[in-house]
Formats: sequence, structure tokens, C-alpha cells
Amino acid sequence: MPQRGTIHADLHTHTTASDGSLSPTLLVQRAFERGVKAIAVTDHDTIAGVEEARAAAKERKMWFTSGIEISATLEGREIHILGYAVDTSNHALLDYVRRARAYRTDRAERIIARLRELGVKKLTMGDVREISGEGVVGRQHIALAMQKKGIVRTTREAFDKYLADDAIAFTAKWEFPVKDAIQLIHDAGGVAVVAHPAKVISGEQFEAMLEAGLDGVELHHPSHDTDVCRLYALLAEEHDLLTTGGSDFHGGNKRDGSNIGRYGLMKDDFTSFASELTKRSATHNRSMKPTLGTLARMLGFRG
Ligand SMILES: [Zn+2]
Ligand SMILES: [Zn+2]
Repeated sequence: MPQRGTIHADLHTHTTASDGSLSPTLLVQRAFERGVKAIAVTDHDTIAGVEEARAAAKERKMWFTSGIEISATLEGREIHILGYAVDTSNHALLDYVRRARAYRTDRAERIIARLRELGVKKLTMGDVREISGEGVVGRQHIALAMQKKGIVRTTREAFDKYLADDAIAFTAKWEFPVKDAIQLIHDAGGVAVVAHPAKVISGEQFEAMLEAGLDGVELHHPSHDTDVCRLYALLAEEHDLLTTGGSDFHGGNKRDGSNIGRYGLMKDDFTSFASELTKRSATHNRSMKPTLGTLARMLGFRG
């Protein structure tokens, strides 16, 4: 559901550090051009794009916070957990992204091997790397490489025939429990928000996430209609949760460029989000005992 009026904050975006098509700088520039005043970069299982995006945002005098979108699982289902205001030098977080990256590379290689068994012989890891660059590799990159090689006509076909969760070349994903994802984000001084909850979550699963210490829900997302927004707004109020929103922009083949500036938080909602973010990240960050200086740094304000 697109919101009326100008969006102030886009808190869900992807860059070339994961499966987005724009570099962190170009992404920030695109948002800036659309009138967005506050931004978070939330790449899949990586924080590699954060510092570049932070600098680009600072240059344009935009509010910025670090972010990540962790692929977690709950009862075998994939659930995405957004982490905001995470300390990007936190050891546990750096260790997680290193392991996730290695696993994703290994998984891509296993998918390619499986495709070869299925008779698709002309796809190599080099072809996939040509698309993904040095960033985190995912199925979208494999689909694009298959399209480029003429194995399929569209990435959609690649997913339907081979790569989707129920398709023949599907290869198991890394299981990282939601409660561990939330803990990891808290330990890095951040707040944990469930991304696009309408896609995946049952009542019991939502309860389990609350028990694990979930801080917030993503309300505004291109996949959410008015009813979903209303439902999660009520749940958020009931459980004292933060509410967020963003475009989930990837670019390229996803043709979602028009979503930037249309999905996110309006100014008033953003103001309450930003103040809650400061409060909560301070309470989670016990290990660090943050000073005003470290908090300010995490939130992107530098002198
Ligand atoms: Zn997601
Ligand atoms: Zn996303």
C-alpha cells in the first residue's frame, strides 16, 4: 500500500553489497533525489555496504543508521529480521556475516553442481560471480547468470524450473534460528524488527518472536495491503513495538525503482521511531555501556 504524501524515511533498502543493483552511494543518491530524508541500508546478511552509504548520506545531510537483514528460520520457515543501529565493529556480528557469506558461496556452488547433474552444464561459478561481483551471492544472481547464458529466458523461469524452494535444484539454506538473530542484533547494540511479516508469520510464530525479544515490526512494505498494516499497527501498540517501513528496493530485474519514496515512514512516525531507536539501542548495548559518543556514532551523527 503506497502512502500518501512524501515519505520521510526509507528504512529497508538493498545495494550491490548483497543482491541490489545500485552501489551504496548510488542508492543513497536515488533516495535523495526522490525526497527521502532518512535512510537505512539493510543488505542480506552483510554490513559491507554500510560505511559507504553512511558517507553518502552524510554528504547529503540525510539521517542514517546502520542496518542488516538477517535470513533466519522459525519452524523451518524463512523469516527476515532487520537489525538497526548495530555496531558494525561488533565481533559477533562480523563473525556472523563472515560465516553467512562463506555459506552462501558454498551453497551457490552446490546449486551449480546440482544443475550440472540435471543436465545444465554450461553454468559456472565464474558466470555467477560476474553478476554478483564480490558481494554476498544469492539465488537471484544464479538466476540472472542462467538468463545471461540463455539457459532460461527470464529469472522467473529460473526460479520456477530450478531454484525455488520447491523446485528441483533447490539446496538447503543455512538454518539460523530467529531467536539467535534477535540476540545477535541485541548484542551488537541494535534493535530487531521483523521484516514484511505478512509474508510468513502465524500468530504462534509472532508470539515466539516476542518472547525472543523482538523490538519491532515493519508496517509499510510493498507487499502489505491496508488490512495487514492495520493488523500489525494494532499488534505493535499492544506489545509496545517499534514500527518501521521501507521500499525493500533492489533495482535491476526486480523493476521496483518506483517504490523508492513511496514506501517508508512519514515524518511524524519517523520521529518516534528515531527516538525509540536511541532508547532501545542503549538498553540492549549493555556489554558496551555506550557513552553518548558511541550512541551518536551508531546513529550516524558525527560532530
Ligand atoms: Zn526480506
Ligand atoms: Zn529486503
